[in-house]
Amino acid sequence: MSEENSDAGLFVFSLSPPTESGQDTDAPALSDLSERDKPWDKHKYNSDRVSDHYAESRYHKYSQRTKSCAELLDFRLVPVASDGEYKLKLAAARFCRVRHCPICQWRRSLMWKAKAYQVLPKVVQDYPKHRWLFLTLTLRNCPVAELRQTLDHMNKSFIRLTKLKDFPGVGWIKSVEVTRGKDGNAHPHIHCLLMVAPSYFGVNYLSQERWVELWQKSLRIDYKPQTHVRAIAKYHDPMVIVPEILKYQVKESDLVANREWFLELTQQLHKTRAVAVGGVLREYMRELEQEPEDLVGEDNQGEVDEGHLFFGWKRQQKKYKLVDP
Ligand SMILES: [Zn+2]
Repeated sequence: MSEENSDAGLFVFSLSPPTESGQDTDAPALSDLSERDKPWDKHKYNSDRVSDHYAESRYHKYSQRTKSCAELLDFRLVPVASDGEYKLKLAAARFCRVRHCPICQWRRSLMWKAKAYQVLPKVVQDYPKHRWLFLTLTLRNCPVAELRQTLDHMNKSFIRLTKLKDFPGVGWIKSVEVTRGKDGNAHPHIHCLLMVAPSYFGVNYLSQERWVELWQKSLRIDYKPQTHVRAIAKYHDPMVIVPEILKYQVKESDLVANREWFLELTQQLHKTRAVAVGGVLREYMRELEQEPEDLVGEDNQGEVDEGHLFFGWKRQQKKYKLVDP
């Protein structure tokens, strides 16, 4: 499992007094104090690289914004045991909300996943006999300069797919991911968590080949597109697929790999939608289609806290370090 599942374990540390010297190099690093907050360093480092890509481009305003994103993190100290152990819970940070900021897309993904984990059990309760499929729909790679029109074509094709007589889905969460091919082409694909009636595994079953045909027909193309369908086991709930559906639209390594590609990507994806929810799932989690208002998350809910620790981004050291705000 990836680091994104930050609720997988509770990380604790014993609070030791801050160092006397007050120098940055001696100050404790966030990554030393809290295991689950280690990803901050990597995401912030990559947001600096994204900021460099945007510098002296037509997106130079994004450069300033991403550079100042989450420069200071305010954590609450929450006691977890009577023996002086604490955990850190994020209380506040200023996020830039630039679409491809690695910090902000990480936080956005965490918020979406939290929402899905909160709501899906309710869906399972309301539709106990329904089953779940994980679909991946692709088509041939395209030049990054043609990404917008390709995604538009894919999204329209997906709507055509949902309207076919044989389409078994009664609800779905669909997300669009773009990866960068070695040749610099873009590889857009759709991930879809699909809810189907119990009869899907009887009279309404669709083979892998049939799925390929349906997707080809919806795309109106003359070749067989790569299509994968995987059923989630009967006694598993759909939560197992959430990390694959609500991950990043573009992975960080692809964001930072090539400046020209990234600038073109920014233009191509401007105001395109990353996540869409359809069918009966819409009433449960329409919010997944929106930018989350809050990027701090459930960590910010009221609990006893015993003070705050502040961590500042130390660009040279590539770490968040304890600071006196
Ligand atoms: Zn940001």
